[in-house]
Amino acid sequence: MINMSKVQTRMPMQDPKVRNQNFEEVALGYSPEQAIREAMRCLKCRKHPCMTSGCPVHNHIPEFIAKITEGDFEAAYQVLTKTTSLPAVCGRVCPQYLQCEGNCVRGKNGGRPVAIGALERFVADWHRQHAEAAEETTIEAKNQDALSDKSVAVIGSGPASLACAGDLLDQGVKVTIFEKENVLGGVLTYGIPQFRLPKEIVENEIAGLKAKGVKLEPGKTLGKDFTLDELLGAKGFSAVFVGNGAGKPMRLGIPGQEAEGVQSAAEFLAKANLEKVLPPAKNIAIVGGGNVAMDACRCAVRIPTAEKVSIVYRRSAAEMPADPGELQEAMEEGVEVLYLTGPLAVECAGGKATGLKCQRMELSEPDESGRRKPVPVPGSEFVLPADLIIEAIGSGSENDGVDGVALSERKGLIIADPETCQSSRPGVFAGGDTVTGPKTVISAMGAGKKAAKAIAEYLLTN
Ligand SMILES: Cc1cc2nc3c(=O)[nH]c(=O)nc-3n(C[C@H](O)[C@H](O)[C@H](O)COP(=O)(O)OP(=O)(O)OC[C@H]3O[C@@H](n4cnc5c(N)ncnc54)[C@H](O)[C@@H]3O)c2cc1C
Repeated sequence: MINMSKVQTRMPMQDPKVRNQNFEEVALGYSPEQAIREAMRCLKCRKHPCMTSGCPVHNHIPEFIAKITEGDFEAAYQVLTKTTSLPAVCGRVCPQYLQCEGNCVRGKNGGRPVAIGALERFVADWHRQHAEAAEETTIEAKNQDALSDKSVAVIGSGPASLACAGDLLDQGVKVTIFEKENVLGGVLTYGIPQFRLPKEIVENEIAGLKAKGVKLEPGKTLGKDFTLDELLGAKGFSAVFVGNGAGKPMRLGIPGQEAEGVQSAAEFLAKANLEKVLPPAKNIAIVGGGNVAMDACRCAVRIPTAEKVSIVYRRSAAEMPADPGELQEAMEEGVEVLYLTGPLAVECAGGKATGLKCQRMELSEPDESGRRKPVPVPGSEFVLPADLIIEAIGSGSENDGVDGVALSERKGLIIADPETCQSSRPGVFAGGDTVTGPKTVISAMGAGKKAAKAIAEYLLTN
């Protein structure tokens, strides 16, 4: 029986006034009854646009939802994992409003789409809590028998690399992951905060790879500790997958940006996530309007000494790239948004930031990105008090160690075939943010899976 309610089954959440004091997960997940009720809103429509035009990895969405309506949650999980390696992650952080849910027919005519992300999360969590131990033993035994003599080096341990490594291990290939940081998981671990993506979820994914026999080498950097030539030569790897992300922060380029108290969102979030260190700031300004700015401002409201947290964004709400759900949650937690406001200079005293000089902006004609270009309003300067200024205006690639691999001229991204992830250098494949520039977990994961398929084919003939 179909549940014809136009509204989604609400997922329980921590109260904003409670959650802005802690780092526990904000969304609490569906109960089995809530999941079944929401799953019953799926119309099982013939063209299933959620899957065909909405999901970058073409998850079998109507099929996994049908299994939920039958109460067979493990079967739903098995359907999902035919196409995705990280359902517990993607169910939490994918921009579903632009993808599967954005194409759901229940979202037309004033209704709300089926909460596909929440259902994916439910199924993955259910599996983790109920079926994990039994399944991992089976995988380990199966693959240890089938390991071939080919080895692949995977650079980085973000979603592109995890997905690539997982699929290669499933095909019997030996895999070593080399990760620059001492912790594994890439942005999933040091970028996205605990209150959106608990680290246990990422650790669980890595434990799954360990069970399949992956060799992990944290604290090892391509271009510093070894080269591509060494990997493909003396170290004996038959191929390399480069999934080194796009983690080099862009700077504001304004006077005073070297002052104490000015830092990149990457640095701020990594300290908060890995070291649990939050600077003792009172007035915090975050410059930017994307999802990284959202994570930074939501971490900033959780600083015990924080009195005011402001987003400084130079365009209007209509142009803001952040996930609307995240923006709403940030505002519920006490973040103020200054739209049409551009930073001009950091005000300092004794080398420390005291404020951000800003100016009001207005929108003129669309620029090359298609968004209306912000232009300054003369005489509108003002100073926003700020002892912590966080730059969240984008990031680029650090592709120093990828010798012999062609990079794009403008952004220094690795040039790779979109279908096979093959770079210009034979035996070297690349995918995720290092190829596309900053994008999403699911697109990085999709690239890792494509690369694994192409690498396996390459290994058969090389
Ligand atoms: C704060 C933040 C929040 C985000 N929120 C979302 C979200 O909600 N939803 C979403 O879909 N996407 C989100 N994204 C984007 C998403 O996380 C990325 O698109 C995705 O992680 C890219 O995956 P990747 O595997 O290509 O790279 P990364 O996750 O960046 O991983 C690259 C890894 O390579 C390592 N590395 C780099 N250089 C070397 C080297 N020379 N040698 C060895 N290792 C190296 C890095 O340390 C890192 O671990 C967010 C990004 C950030 C920064």
